[in-house]
Amino acid sequence: MMIAPVREDTTVTRLARRTNPWEMAVEQFNAAADKIKLSDNMREILGNCKRELTVNFPVKLSDGKVHVFTGHRVHHNVNRGPAKGGIRYHPDVTLDEVKALAMWMTWKCAMMGIPFGGGKGGVACDPKGERSGRPMTSRELENLTRRYTTEIEILIGPDRDVPAPDVNTTPQIMAWIMDTYSMHKGHTISSVVTGKPVALGGSLVRNEATALGIRMVIEQAARHLDMSLEDARVVIQGYGNAGAFAASLMHEIGARVIAVSDSRGGVVNTDGLDPSAIERHKRETGSVMDLKGADNLTNAELLEVPCDILIPAALEDQITATNAPRIQTKIIAEAANGPTTPEADRILHDKGVFVIPDILANAGGVTVSYFEWVQDLQSFFWDEAEIKRKLLAIMSRAFEDVVDLSERNHVDNRTAALMLAISRVAEATQMRGIYP
Ligand code: NAD
Repeated sequence: MMIAPVREDTTVTRLARRTNPWEMAVEQFNAAADKIKLSDNMREILGNCKRELTVNFPVKLSDGKVHVFTGHRVHHNVNRGPAKGGIRYHPDVTLDEVKALAMWMTWKCAMMGIPFGGGKGGVACDPKGERSGRPMTSRELENLTRRYTTEIEILIGPDRDVPAPDVNTTPQIMAWIMDTYSMHKGHTISSVVTGKPVALGGSLVRNEATALGIRMVIEQAARHLDMSLEDARVVIQGYGNAGAFAASLMHEIGARVIAVSDSRGGVVNTDGLDPSAIERHKRETGSVMDLKGADNLTNAELLEVPCDILIPAALEDQITATNAPRIQTKIIAEAANGPTTPEADRILHDKGVFVIPDILANAGGVTVSYFEWVQDLQSFFWDEAEIKRKLLAIMSRAFEDVVDLSERNHVDNRTAALMLAISRVAEATQMRGIYP
């Protein structure tokens, strides 16, 4: 059975009222810091980013014109190890967004027990031509990537800061970063970036790692809630690396993917969609919309389709105080970083929705990135079974830690995850002391 669209797209009004991601990250930090009674001095340190680099750099476009792009690379905290975090190419990239994403990376790495600090990067550009109507050519993307890499080279390096893919950045882009960095150093340095193609020292399982980790924690949540995943209705916002793999992996275990979307809009069929057919359709047409046998709907409508598991896998600020009261799901597994605002969190908690927060749900990506970095440094590569086994061990332990702390302290899962992560970073910071 297909269902009719429920209301008009509110994307435009939502963009106008967009929550500042950095303010949101700080609000989440403060809420968890209150719970663990973090000292004022430690709040001062952990509530700020350590380094913020903004670069404006020219790129020659294919029509001969030169455009100056603005990019950022931010380190939030590196007390537990080198900065780790993706690079985003998107028209809406701002310094505040990159700072928020860097802070979330600090907590995520600490939450998972991975020896990295938090970093993030981004360039304000429009690779798919979503705003300009003209997608960037491969040559333009390569030139932009090589110049941006050169501009941020004062920060990156295997022992200092290890970038990875994020929205609109791919294994090919990681390969260009690795090559540019290696050219400047005069020899091949694979471990400067993760998410590379396997032929260049990438890790098996890295492509699907984020979605695999999401499935692992959804399976744990289902056991915890005594809920069957067989035929469970799944809705996914965003059909890129995280979202598309999540659809296939959930379909693989017998769940029913009923609605998916990308930046243009979505499709729904409550009888279920076939991820391989969606994949084919998206490859041929550039979007999931107009899929045969499904109804189109907007991204705003998609989030309100009744389901058992909702996976936001696009951008920040999607589940807000406006739509949270209308969301009808048992589990939200946050593949995206920062999809839920603090106000929405409170509403969902009151409604009894089991939220698996971003710093736990999507941590499969950084965990396998960590494996890739370790394999590159050792020049010794692991097989698929070993990587999946190690990932499952880390995801399961983290899930149990969060649920246990949330139940003991009567707080929601996000606050519990942040309490755990912030305590670990605070402990490392305290033990290192303040230099000089
Ligand atoms: P991607 O570029 O591969 O895919 C993004 C998808 O979201 C695309 O299908 C795009 O069309 C869609 N999209 C963009 N704006 C949208 C909107 N307003 N509404 C609906 N869909 C929209 O990116 P990705 O790597 O899959 O990242 C998606 C999210 O997952 C981001 O928040 C990212 O930070 C997070 N994440 C990614 C990884 C990873 O390993 N790739 C790891 C952890 C977290």
